Amino acid sequence: MKIDDVISAELPNTIEDPILFETVRKHMVHGPCGELNLNSPCMKDGKCTKRYPCELIHETQTGGDAYPLYKRRKPDEGGYITTLKMSNAVVDIDNRWIVPYSPLLSKMFDAHINVEYKTLRDFQGNDQPMGGALILLAGDFPSNFAGYPAFNARR
Ligand SMILES: [Zn+2]
Repeated sequence: MKIDDVISAELPNTIEDPILFETVRKHMVHGPCGELNLNSPCMKDGKCTKRYPCELIHETQTGGDAYPLYKRRKPDEGGYITTLKMSNAVVDIDNRWIVPYSPLLSKMFDAHINVEYKTLRDFQGNDQPMGGALILLAGDFPSNFAGYPAFNARR
């Protein structure tokens, strides 16, 4: 399985998929925090506890941490940008601020659903060849979505 096929941490192409673009823009932008918003609830001692803004990289990298570094392209490498209105300014949002999501689930539910890929380790702590699982870190599913109660994890 290719991680990029099931998880994205990028703004989608607004022309190719305007619905997904709006969903991601509405639900999957972290903060912004840091210098743009020191009062964001994620900030502690001047730093984002969720480690945003993320690094921009042109290819998903696995290994190292249990979570991969997701592909987040720079605007001049084909990454998209959008703008968000903050209380006193309009700020540019690039892929550094996008929370990893499943395009399929995000489109289905139009909600904040954070999905990540976790490499499985054996008891010695070695990565399993081809081993990994999709995990749901947070999801605001509609309250009438009773089919999968285990999915109703809250942020
Ligand atoms: Zn933050």
